[in-house]
Amino acid sequence: MATGMDKPVDEVDPQPADTHALNDQLTDWDREHFWHSFTQMQDYQPLVIERADGIWLETTDGQRLIDAASSMWCNVHGHNHPVINAAIRDQLGRVAHCTSLGMGNDTTIRLAKRLADMAPGNLRRVLFSSDGSSAIEVALKAAFQYWQQCDNHGGGPRPEKTKFLAFGDAYHGDTVGAASVGGIGRFHSLFQPLLFDVVRAPLPNRDAVPLEVNPADAAAYYLEQLEPLFAEHAHELAAVVIEPLVQCAAGMVMHPPGFLAGLRELATRHDVLLIADEVAVGFGKTGTMFACEQEGVVPDFLCLGKGLTGGYLPMAVTITNDAIYEAFLGDAASGRQLYHGHTFCGNPLAAAAAMACLDVFEQQQLLDALPAKFQRLSGWFDRLAQHPAVTSTRQTGIIAAANFDTARELSGDQPIGRQVAAEALRRGVWLRPQPHMLYVMPPLAISLEEIDQMMTIVEQSIEVATGTHR
Ligand code: PLP
Repeated sequence: MATGMDKPVDEVDPQPADTHALNDQLTDWDREHFWHSFTQMQDYQPLVIERADGIWLETTDGQRLIDAASSMWCNVHGHNHPVINAAIRDQLGRVAHCTSLGMGNDTTIRLAKRLADMAPGNLRRVLFSSDGSSAIEVALKAAFQYWQQCDNHGGGPRPEKTKFLAFGDAYHGDTVGAASVGGIGRFHSLFQPLLFDVVRAPLPNRDAVPLEVNPADAAAYYLEQLEPLFAEHAHELAAVVIEPLVQCAAGMVMHPPGFLAGLRELATRHDVLLIADEVAVGFGKTGTMFACEQEGVVPDFLCLGKGLTGGYLPMAVTITNDAIYEAFLGDAASGRQLYHGHTFCGNPLAAAAAMACLDVFEQQQLLDALPAKFQRLSGWFDRLAQHPAVTSTRQTGIIAAANFDTARELSGDQPIGRQVAAEALRRGVWLRPQPHMLYVMPPLAISLEEIDQMMTIVEQSIEVATGTHR
């Protein structure tokens, strides 16, 4: 088999002299060799980022783009942040990686302590993994194993509790366990034969309650539908898994206020563990460090990823309480430990980035600065709501979305959302294209002026793509 190693040195990686030729070469190689995730490669138009700073991405051909999706919902303090860069460099000079299986390192230990101190309520046992999907796998497996070997207040194990309850249109990642609790058909239905069965509850969408229901009773409306599911299945449920407040991949679907607290109460009453998937909504996106805090909820497992390292390096955590942790204790022969781990879990470089990310939150008192940013964004989405091509808008924290009027779509044309995203790209904002909606979730570091800049382009793009004006 021929490999690059067989080629004469001067044939490997020839570097074109001018920027345009280099860009062409990279886009060719991108098309030829880079199989992009969640991307239809047949339609793929290469977009090659060479550097980034703050909320700005810069392509190899010099275009500057606002990162309106915070690099898939993970960037917090902006790109190329001096504090995070310095922390990674410092760590690099000490140790880049050592295993967390049977040993630790000073930086990751400090991070575990810091997360335990910050996490809601009694959550203080931190298990590291490398990405959000793995954090969910850990929570699912730990919840399952917990019931196999817990003391259950002296009542002994409940081995029949092997199932999970999850919500319609949920998304918790793409590994097989995470996909099983996921409920977005177009992502995972093909794999159905590989997935395990879950008890599926209706999507609690605050914007889709029937007209006869008073909006103030929206949480109660959805909780009433959950009650019989708990009554029927609690005996076999290990846990319920939810993305608190906003189901991001579902299309930024927002839950009615009070729903999360009601779910916590139901789960406790029925002896079912609660897994909060804050992989996307954690780290300030909804206005508090963790979304659960907004309803005073303490889950049994809190899963964090993405923004944990400021969006710099792959790291995720599953944080749980002493009662669950203690069910895994025993002597070496007991087999009670959790047999789940990843080579790079607890990686020191990622831990250094995470520590620096938390430092920046504190140094800049970022959470205090957020309400003004949310308000500025809200003003813009109120304007978009008046646009004839827009049917509705919604916002929670830095996450805001608008739905388009699909009746305006002409057959043969790209859906409006994709046309708007293409226009925004030409004008300097990167929106992750969606067929019938748009959303923004920029880095929290975005300034008020940059919100105006981003939203001016978004508004113009809607006008150009739909040929209509407010
Ligand atoms: N959970 C939620 C809510 C997510 O949004 C995602 C990713 O978008 C995941 C889990 C999976 O995280 P990762 O892509 O890091 O595996």
